[in-house]
Amino acid sequence: MSSTETLYSDLIARLRRLQALESVAELLGWDDQVNLPPGAAGQRAEQQAVLAGTVHGLAADPVLGERMAALTSAGGLSSDQRAVVAEAGRDFERATKLPADFVREKAAHSSRGYHAWAKARADSDFAGYAPILETHLELARREAAYLGQADNPYDCFLDLHDPGLTAAAIEPLFAELAAGLVPLARAIAGSAGADAPPRAFLGSHEEQKEFCRDVTARIGFDYNRGRLDLSLHPFCSGSGDDVRMTIRFTAGDPLSSLYSAVHEAGHGLYEQGLAPERRGTALGRNAGMAVHESQSRMWENFVGRSRGFWRFFAPRLRPPGPGGPPSAEEAYRAVNRVKPTLIRVEADEVTYNLHIILRFEIESRLFRGELAVADLPAVWNERSAALIGLTPSTDREGVLQDVHWSGGAFGYFPSYCLGNMIAAQLWEKIEGLRPDLAEDFARGDFRWLLQWLRENIHAAGRRHPPLELVRRVTGRPLSPQPLLRYLGKKYGELYRLAR
Ligand code: ZN
Repeated sequence: MSSTETLYSDLIARLRRLQALESVAELLGWDDQVNLPPGAAGQRAEQQAVLAGTVHGLAADPVLGERMAALTSAGGLSSDQRAVVAEAGRDFERATKLPADFVREKAAHSSRGYHAWAKARADSDFAGYAPILETHLELARREAAYLGQADNPYDCFLDLHDPGLTAAAIEPLFAELAAGLVPLARAIAGSAGADAPPRAFLGSHEEQKEFCRDVTARIGFDYNRGRLDLSLHPFCSGSGDDVRMTIRFTAGDPLSSLYSAVHEAGHGLYEQGLAPERRGTALGRNAGMAVHESQSRMWENFVGRSRGFWRFFAPRLRPPGPGGPPSAEEAYRAVNRVKPTLIRVEADEVTYNLHIILRFEIESRLFRGELAVADLPAVWNERSAALIGLTPSTDREGVLQDVHWSGGAFGYFPSYCLGNMIAAQLWEKIEGLRPDLAEDFARGDFRWLLQWLRENIHAAGRRHPPLELVRRVTGRPLSPQPLLRYLGKKYGELYRLAR
């Protein structure tokens, strides 16, 4: 091994092998949730454990570390190549700095944590779950210390999902967003503009799935390189030429499967838009969870809850019983009702962000040591009243509602809200470039939008940290103002609010 080019192509070959194995593990994970016979769980766990060991062996291979060190010191790399080496270095560090004992201990505690959470949630018993959470926090602090971030453990987890992100960067953005959203949500709640609940716009599960497939294909999801199946919780997995998404049906709410499908298709379009020949490297990888959510949220809300979208799709709905399809305006109003709820996953476009801000506040205060685990239910309820205007009557509707912390997943929540902010800022840019986008949608034509996202977001891969990508594409640093303008205009008109 001598020349930089030889070293570099050897590194790429190693990263490709690693990615191929990781994608097999991901495929088994998809299979677990979609197909696996109940009796096969033990056999599957053994397959997953063997595979995880093999993946770790490749990821932590000392030769990989030597190649990267040699490349870094040799110099002469292009900026793309430097991005690839830097990203591979981050992964290598993670794979080698965490002791195997620690990884096993964390995995075992996450599994215990999930079951303890499920029971505590069913019984609305926070006290029984608190010790589990204490241990998760302690493991998280240890993990940050292994990774050299003992002083800023929360930032360590934010960075894991969104490279370069810190609590200090998020805090002012969320504070400004909350200052605009709380009065907007109050004004909507106090307005006379609320509509009656929607009638059923679709019938059987078969019809719903068919409609989901039609809509997602129409917006550009490539079914030659992807699938749509059913699972308990909707998700999207895979990348490049094999992207798999799932939906579920909700009794009494036939459009819930549609919005799951459009959301997951937004993730899927992003993954299908990454360069397959750059798989396994920073150039063929998504830019992090916030940018990922910006894509799913843009298709779900900015597109899927728009008038143009419903001008095309409303006549295609097949409500059961008499009455025929709704008008575009009836469908538009039905899918844009705002009603504060205690439950994050049921929240509308306006109040959803407040649920996330609450979780971010609590996580960052926990890691700063300003809150004890025992304080959580009371603080949760107090912040819920202040931000959302509702106080949970049980912990099941409050601090125990989300699965994330039970598996030790801290620092993930902010990605959802940052994704909404990024989507809005991109949307302002897009509307400036293509003022009659709604007319495209009304014709069922989503190609211009998808092409723009392909060129500006998908093609960038992970060359830049997420906030830098947003600044480059929109020409401005990320701000909550585009999201506040979008929500204020849309819901001000829907609920006839005074300006
Ligand atoms: Zn999502």
